[in-house]
Amino acid sequence: MSTDLHPATATRHDQHGQWPQAESADDFRHNLTAVHARMTAACQRVGRNPASVRLLPVSKTKPEAVLRQAYAAGCRMLGENKPQEAHRKWEAMADLADLRWSVIGHLQTNKAKLVAQCASEFQALDSLRVAEALERRLQAEGRALDVFVQVNTSGEASKYGLHPDEVAAFLRELPAFSALRVRGLMTLALFSAEAERVRQCFVLLRSLRDRLRQDAPAGVELGELSMGMSGDYEIAIEEGATVVRVGQAIFGARPMPDSYYWPSSTGDDAKAGETH
Ligand SMILES: *Cc1c(COP(=O)(O)O)cnc(C)c1O
Repeated sequence: MSTDLHPATATRHDQHGQWPQAESADDFRHNLTAVHARMTAACQRVGRNPASVRLLPVSKTKPEAVLRQAYAAGCRMLGENKPQEAHRKWEAMADLADLRWSVIGHLQTNKAKLVAQCASEFQALDSLRVAEALERRLQAEGRALDVFVQVNTSGEASKYGLHPDEVAAFLRELPAFSALRVRGLMTLALFSAEAERVRQCFVLLRSLRDRLRQDAPAGVELGELSMGMSGDYEIAIEEGATVVRVGQAIFGARPMPDSYYWPSSTGDDAKAGETH
C-alpha cells in the first residue's frame, strides 16, 4: 500500500542470500555501476541531488583478496560490522594508505581500542559507556572519530540502538566527548517484504532528526542519515538517506544467516550472549 506522496518502490529482500559473488575488479565495477544507477534513479523520483547520497560498501565476512579487488574498482571506504574483523583487515591492508574503515556494528567497551585505532567512522553509538570508552582510547591515540547515533526505529526489542525518545537526552551528553564528531543518525529498518512498514522506519529516523536538529547542542551535527542496505536502500534514499550501507548487492551473498550479524527476535544469540 503506497500513498501519492510515496513512490511504490518495493524492497529487494527477495534477492537476499542470492546476490552473485563479486570475484574480480570488473565484477565490482559492474555492481557499483548498477547500485549507483539505482541510487540516482531513487534520487530523481523524489527530486534529490544524487551527489547528496554516499554509498558505503559493506565488506564484512569477505576475505582480504576480495576487498583488494573492491579497492581496485575504486572503493576507498569499507564498512565492517565487527570491530575485531575491521581491525584485522585494517592491519593487513595498511599498504593501501587511502583506504578508510567505517565500523557499523555494535561495540562492546572492551573493544573500543580497536575502533579507536582503525576506524575513521563509527555508526553504532548507542550508550554513554561506549562514548566514554571511545573518548578515552581516542585521546590516547591522538585521533578523532566521526560518529552516528544508532536509533531503533523498528521497535524490535532485540535490535540495538536507542529508543527514539532517548535520543534527545543522549545528544545533550555528547559535547563532553571532544574526540567524537557527531555527524547524524543511523538505523536498521524492519527486515520485511512489506515496503510500507520498512519505509515507516526511515520516515521515523528522518522526522526525529528534523525535530532534534532545531536545538541540537553546539558541535553536534545531524546532517547525516545512514539508512538502507541491499534490500531497501532505494526506499531509504526516497526518505532522505545521505549514507546507504550496501553489502551483498556489491560483494555477493554472505554464507552466514543474518542472526549472526543482527540479533533478531528469532535468533538473539549475539546480544543475549554478550558480556560487558
Ligand atoms: C551487513 C550490514 C549492512 C549491509 O547489509 P546487506 O544486506 O549486505 O546490504 C548494513 N548495515 C549493517 C549495520 C550491517 O551489519
